[in-house]
Amino acid sequence: MDNCIFCKIASGEIPSNTLYEDESFRVILDNGPATKGHALVLPKEHYANLFEIPDDVLAGAVKVAKKVSLTMKEKLACDGLNLVQNNGETAGQTVMHFHLHIIPRYEGDGQHILWKPTSPSAEELAQIRDVITGA
Ligand code: AMP
Ligand code: ZN
Repeated sequence: MDNCIFCKIASGEIPSNTLYEDESFRVILDNGPATKGHALVLPKEHYANLFEIPDDVLAGAVKVAKKVSLTMKEKLACDGLNLVQNNGETAGQTVMHFHLHIIPRYEGDGQHILWKPTSPSAEELAQIRDVITGA
């Protein structure tokens, strides 16, 4: 993808704060971090989102995320960590090149990454279950 900023960062054409690199992935520091150490796993091949990425590349991205997360736990002494992955504008995706967010969490960091729960009835839950499973 000629005009994709993450393609250019992943390939090294645009410099980044790289934490990890192998032949298929680059992990960079997010330049608008939610917390100290917030990083992005970028596949070097362009896939727009979860719906397009092949299973083996996705599996590789998750393995890389785990490796970097373990390093962060050790080096940053974070208290927790969120893996976040957005698909589509409605879900908050702003760069249309698949990426996994690694967000170290610290007590009192003031971030709100978790959602506000709703209270569907048992019937509503069963209905959505049936829609998804085709039952
Ligand atoms: P998303 O909203 O899931 O698409 O996440 C895009 C993320 O990319 C945001 O957290 C941005 O701060 C980050 N970002 C955008 N451009 C750059 C860049 N040039 N270098 C590093 N991070 C970036
Ligand atoms: Zn791209």
